[in-house]
Amino acid sequence: MKMLDPNHITPFLNADVELVTISSDQFVVQQTKLKHQIRINKLTHALLKKLDGKKTIGEITTELNTDLATDLIDEKTVHDLLYEKLYPLGIIDNNHEAIARKGANYLNLRFPMIPKSLVAILSQIFKNFFTQPVAFFYVFGALFIVLFSTTLQTLISQDIFNTLLITKTHGLFIFLFGFVICLFHEIGHTSALAFSKRKAGEIGVGFYLMYPVFYCDVSETWLLSKKRRMMVNLGGLYFETLVGILFLVLYFATYNPFFIWLNTIILFRFIANLNPFLRRDGYWVLSDAINMPNLQKDAIQYVLHAAKAIYKGTPYQKNHFLLSYGLLAISFAFLFLGLIVLSNPSSILYFPINVWNEIKEITHQGFALFSITELLEQFALPLLFYLLFFKLSIKWIKGKLKKKSDLKPQNPIVNRSST
Ligand SMILES: [Zn+2]
Repeated sequence: MKMLDPNHITPFLNADVELVTISSDQFVVQQTKLKHQIRINKLTHALLKKLDGKKTIGEITTELNTDLATDLIDEKTVHDLLYEKLYPLGIIDNNHEAIARKGANYLNLRFPMIPKSLVAILSQIFKNFFTQPVAFFYVFGALFIVLFSTTLQTLISQDIFNTLLITKTHGLFIFLFGFVICLFHEIGHTSALAFSKRKAGEIGVGFYLMYPVFYCDVSETWLLSKKRRMMVNLGGLYFETLVGILFLVLYFATYNPFFIWLNTIILFRFIANLNPFLRRDGYWVLSDAINMPNLQKDAIQYVLHAAKAIYKGTPYQKNHFLLSYGLLAISFAFLFLGLIVLSNPSSILYFPINVWNEIKEITHQGFALFSITELLEQFALPLLFYLLFFKLSIKWIKGKLKKKSDLKPQNPIVNRSST
């Protein structure tokens, strides 16, 4: 963009923009309608507060320099920050071409299940399970210890796996339970956000590393303090803990071992969800704890950068944390993908042959009714796998073809979808 005369432009904040102070040195600017959240420093915050649509860039720059008792800020820096970085995101003036933030790019084939409006209503009801941050962490910790120790103790002392007969009804119940607990988990995240007077997006199902997960858009978490961000991160597991406690009560009322069985599922979900190397809840806990919003991206880029440097024999800055985290994250992703392919190799590898055989059969004998599971196993899942594979390949090729100099607005903060 050509720089316009700094003495004639009078920038103003878009009507849908909110400036949020997180702490004395952390600020976020949010475009509420277009769903952009950008972390800004103190100086940028001070600059944005001065925009009133009356003062020119020249006057604003002079004011900033006077406030800071310096002459280091020039008009071009102010202009470029406002019009090259913030204008494309719809933060300055009325840019009607500014585009909304897309959903999390690590989730694919998203399918919404609970619309935003219903999520808001449910969150308002369930936010009452939260207390002030300090009390919340104690309540959550205490309940979790009770759930974990009692479930484990009962499992060991009662030899439940040998006494419980899993019937078809049980199987159906476990399936339904899995579905409901996943949704309730997401409500846990959105209610924690509602407790801090912020709104979540829809809840749905998507694919993460070709594996189906429930998700909810909780990007407004960026506008919260660290403690409250942690509440949102742990909100899902907190709600699962509440369900587990309810099952414990039911177990001691009825002595039906099935409740302990269900609690074992909850505990396994806990472990899987807290793995910080996949983008599950544990990832956000770690990312917030060490204050690195783009942890995974940064770590993987660091590993690639270090590998290149080692290959070329050029020096590079050593960062043991980013290196080990990046390597583990990459290994976990491959392990995960490998497990999916290996767990059902016949259907994914033989998918083309299966399709061919099926076509042959249909042409010979007409449509045959086969069971739903067979259809799912042989066609639906492998088809999704290949669809995702092609989608990701095209994305990768497109990224390779894109010119490096492309000056596209980059949203500094990643979309935040809890799973
Ligand atoms: Zn979660």
